[in-house]
Amino acid sequence: MSILRVGHKFGGRGGIFMQPLIFEPVLKRIRWGGTRLGSMLGKPLGPESDYAESWEIADHGTDQSRVAEGPYRGMPLNHLVQRDGEELLGRQNGIDQFPLLIKYLDAQDWLSLQVHPNDAQARKFDPHENGKTEAWVVIDAAEDSRICAGLKPGVTAAHVRDAVQAGCVEECLHLIGVQPGDCVFVPAGTVHALGPGILLAEVQQQSNLTFRLHDWGRLGTDGKPRSLHLNESIACTDFNRGPVNPVIPTAMNDNGHAFEELVRSEYFVIRRHFGACQFEFRSGNCFRILMCLKGKGTLTSDSFQAVLRPGATILIPSACRHADVSLQDGAVLLEVLPPDIAVM
Ligand SMILES: [Zn+2]
Repeated sequence: MSILRVGHKFGGRGGIFMQPLIFEPVLKRIRWGGTRLGSMLGKPLGPESDYAESWEIADHGTDQSRVAEGPYRGMPLNHLVQRDGEELLGRQNGIDQFPLLIKYLDAQDWLSLQVHPNDAQARKFDPHENGKTEAWVVIDAAEDSRICAGLKPGVTAAHVRDAVQAGCVEECLHLIGVQPGDCVFVPAGTVHALGPGILLAEVQQQSNLTFRLHDWGRLGTDGKPRSLHLNESIACTDFNRGPVNPVIPTAMNDNGHAFEELVRSEYFVIRRHFGACQFEFRSGNCFRILMCLKGKGTLTSDSFQAVLRPGATILIPSACRHADVSLQDGAVLLEVLPPDIAVM
């Protein structure tokens, strides 16, 4: 006789459904970090003041998100992908790695000027690695916060190489101010850097391959310059991409519920919902990720209920047939979906 507990699924195939999943954050300390991951997003920081990244949903080698609570507590994301792919991923079942890496970043200093390879370029460096197309949604920024997003029009590989060697690479860069709410889409091959004062949510391919073009002349914690990858960076740069500016959101409407679509790419779709509102997610035979950036709300799915507050990240499995969201006035919620999703 099998025991069935309503609202939970215990192993094996053919169970009922998998509930929304909340993971333990994987915190990364890097010298450009700060403390806002704790003070603004509720992450459990130690006494140090260099918390740079909170990996919220990660399936990258030993960097594994583990389920924080419920029947799957302690389970690494990769086990769920391998064992319960149908329930978790729906139509994407069969892949051996969760396709997206979801983070919050707190930049208190300039990050290195960098570029990520596309899939084909990445696999030349490491056959198990992916390219890295990413997108940022700014949560908090200082008044003078800037980013580098792409190159000035007409800048060529020779310009960049000469400028890096002459110590004046800034002349090649498209530098812009950003403010809370800005979303910047950064496909693989786009030269980029985040500047001081920026706290953001990041959605990217499951990859950790970065080539550093320039490090602003700084020294690493060991007193030596961090290694640069000028040739690899230039080889991976898309010199046709030109300057990149924050996206212009597309207004969407589903049965009277108005929201925005920020990014629709070959790797992910990002939408944004604003409170006060109530709406329902219906399964599109795919997973969805929710990130609460501001304000408060609740997510309810059968017997599961979670509070949405800044820094909350929830993975809704494909097998979760519906979930109800309620957002209070002023709340901002990101919804991340696999590509090729129809409006629902
Ligand atoms: Zn990057």
